[in-house]
Amino acid sequence: MNNNEYIVIGNPISHSKSPFIHQQFAKQTAIPHHYGSLLVELGEFENAVHQFFEQGGKGANVTLPFKQEAFNLADHLTERAQCAGAVNTLKLLENGEILGDNTDGIGLVSDIHRHFSLKTNDKILILGAGGAARGAIQPLMHCGYRLSISNRTQSKAEAMVDEFKKIGSLSLHKEGDSCNDYGLIINATSSGVSGQLPPLNENCLTSATCCYDMFYKVGNTSFIEWAISHNVKDTADGLGMLVGQAAHAFFLWHDTMPDIEPVIAQLRNEMV
Ligand code: NDP
Repeated sequence: MNNNEYIVIGNPISHSKSPFIHQQFAKQTAIPHHYGSLLVELGEFENAVHQFFEQGGKGANVTLPFKQEAFNLADHLTERAQCAGAVNTLKLLENGEILGDNTDGIGLVSDIHRHFSLKTNDKILILGAGGAARGAIQPLMHCGYRLSISNRTQSKAEAMVDEFKKIGSLSLHKEGDSCNDYGLIINATSSGVSGQLPPLNENCLTSATCCYDMFYKVGNTSFIEWAISHNVKDTADGLGMLVGQAAHAFFLWHDTMPDIEPVIAQLRNEMV
């Protein structure tokens, strides 16, 4: 089925930048790391994963739409995967059992720290209450930030506030609320895919606010354009998050953290 010991599984998969990123990590670290991609039909995920590991696979990244199925399939879960309720990285353990991790949130946090100087206790607003937002909450809480969440469908944001209040500070930001003390606003909605803006009162953007869009594309995303037009302090898109989550998966498999900077630069050049 596949001669690679590491793969990314998804549907669709041909657009995935993960094989390129992992090839760069392998070159950089000189660790044997043969990484490919696998298109899996809906309903075939569990079989495909077991077959991959039976045939010598050691680790897999999981992307849309299978992160929830990977969560259900794993024999063991890291704390951050449990909090995220989703798995993007699988590792075959020595006893043949499968560990599920979620490196999206830590990839986001490390990228945010690359770009912005935030202080513990700073206020962060997360826009969106889908899988990416969910995966970000625990790693951001872990850094001591005070989090708020807002979502087009408010009931989903309310449910997250309820779910996460046991482990840290998460409050509801209602659409239209005005607030001028966010140090960082993270767009974790998929509004950018169609060039739309997430619903947000423009009073929330000040010259002290940084804005991060998990989405990335050639040129600025619509959210970043909008933030720049409101003279915010700084902006960044999610390309570094993508490479960061891959680096943390590589670390889980090989216990070595690759340098993400040259890989981000290479991807950025290729995207122009
Ligand atoms: P989900 O489908 O799980 O969630 C989508 C979220 O976006 C929901 O909260 C939804 O709101 C909201 N939304 C969708 N369209 C609009 C719109 N037009 N206006 C306002 N809100 C909208 O997606 P994910 O959480 O998996 O992904 C979210 C974004 O994060 C995507 O752009 C994705 O590309 C990016 N991402 C980036 C990664 C990276 O490595 N850089 C990794 C993972 C994700 P509602 O509940 O009302 O439907």
